[in-house]
Amino acid sequence: MQRLTTLLLIMIFTCCQTIISGCQEGSKPSSGIQSTQQNFSDTIDISDKTVHETIDTTLKRDWPKRDTFTAEQLDTLRQSLVIANSIIYDTLFYPLIQNLADSNKVDWGSTRLSSIPRDHRSAPTAFLLDQFQRRHLNRLEDFQAYRWEDDSPTTGSVEACDTLPKVNVHKLDRGLRSIAGTMVHERVHSFCQKHISQNRDENECDLAYHVGTLTIALAAYRSNNSRSFTSRANMCSHLLKLLQQRNIIK
Ligand SMILES: [Zn+2]
Repeated sequence: MQRLTTLLLIMIFTCCQTIISGCQEGSKPSSGIQSTQQNFSDTIDISDKTVHETIDTTLKRDWPKRDTFTAEQLDTLRQSLVIANSIIYDTLFYPLIQNLADSNKVDWGSTRLSSIPRDHRSAPTAFLLDQFQRRHLNRLEDFQAYRWEDDSPTTGSVEACDTLPKVNVHKLDRGLRSIAGTMVHERVHSFCQKHISQNRDENECDLAYHVGTLTIALAAYRSNNSRSFTSRANMCSHLLKLLQQRNIIK
């Protein structure tokens, strides 16, 4: 009788373990920002890694070429888009961009403004933020698969005011937050902001690079349970100062 009771207890225990383990597995989010929650003990790079075409157009006549996304690449884009969407609706996103605009820390200029509707050129940041609220981010099916020449650092491109971002299929192995940053960056070009050149350093304080870096920073911050973290980043000094003042990065 005692052996039978022991056997029954073992069976019940094993069964409970299976159920608990099954529940944990089943409730684990398969995608989205919740699945990336972690505590950061290391230094995090939150630089906007977006790179546009940098070589002379006469050398790249036949490039970029159309391609197709693999199922894995599409899943990467889908998960990155979940993160990007969660950040543009984050309570900190608009106020921080507005803060940079109000303190005149967003670089504009005739070239950057030249495709923005004339009526909005006196307050371009307000126009861009309004576009985010009205038109949101791209849908997954908007992203177009392309490949650039083998050694190109180009992550993708969007002509000013174009709504279909080209994505370099060879540059999708750089982390979900980084790709989410590029998605938000490229959306600024969809809303008609241009860069003054293809040189990143000359544009790091314009709105496209501000929002790209801010997206990555806020995604990391939320993944760290809204606690500040140590950052290694190549970004505009004004944005760096603001993120430190707000205790988002140390
Ligand atoms: Zn850009």
